[in-house]
Amino acid sequence: MWQRLLDKIYPQHCLLCHASSQNISLCQGCQNELPSNHNACWHCAQPLEGAAQHSALICAHCLKKPLTIDRCIVPFRYHSPIDFMVKQLKFQQKLVYAPLIAELMLFSLKQETDLPQLILPVPLHSARLQQRGFNQSQEIALHLAKLLNLTCRYDLLTRRINTRSQTELTAKLRQKNIKGAFQVRKTIPAKRIALIDDVMTSGSTANELAKTVKQAGVEEVQLWAFARAGAPLRQS
Ligand SMILES: [Zn+2]
Ligand SMILES: [Zn+2]
Repeated sequence: MWQRLLDKIYPQHCLLCHASSQNISLCQGCQNELPSNHNACWHCAQPLEGAAQHSALICAHCLKKPLTIDRCIVPFRYHSPIDFMVKQLKFQQKLVYAPLIAELMLFSLKQETDLPQLILPVPLHSARLQQRGFNQSQEIALHLAKLLNLTCRYDLLTRRINTRSQTELTAKLRQKNIKGAFQVRKTIPAKRIALIDDVMTSGSTANELAKTVKQAGVEEVQLWAFARAGAPLRQS
């Protein structure tokens, strides 16, 4: 009841603290507290402590062995309250978090001068999709497409193998686990694309997908994810 009353008083309120919020559903105070990942590797989004802000940085691992992904834009770290927001969307079916996540990603994406015009959400396996009822990456991608006036296509890629959860695996096992998991169903009508995901953990999932789309003729693959978790990918 208190919540309903607040909704009446404030046409838009913060999803985290219920304070009034004018443009997006997160108040300025909560926005200021978010764990930013601005000083991160240009290629793999690994946080780089002490690095200068907003410069093109490459971590030692990417210098030695670059990923197939050409560029990662991952504006936040997977710490509180970012992890809470992702879990609310993914496991509590609170789809109201999808437009908020897209809005929060927008701040970083708007600083880029040359964004790909086609965005593709990382697909879920049909069994997982049926279980969850929606693909959280697709929900985020659809809002991003609207905000940035880009084309979002979710009919081009498919996940053939329902991989077990990647979280408890080592980086090497993750790569093995995900190999051959994706397939391109239709011609991808662009040479430059961005893959959209909610959380980037080791990067092995998105990197495998990047390999698959490059084999299908795409030349540049970016990854835009909301949050960076875990250790960087070690390619063998
Ligand atoms: Zn707030
Ligand atoms: Zn890197």
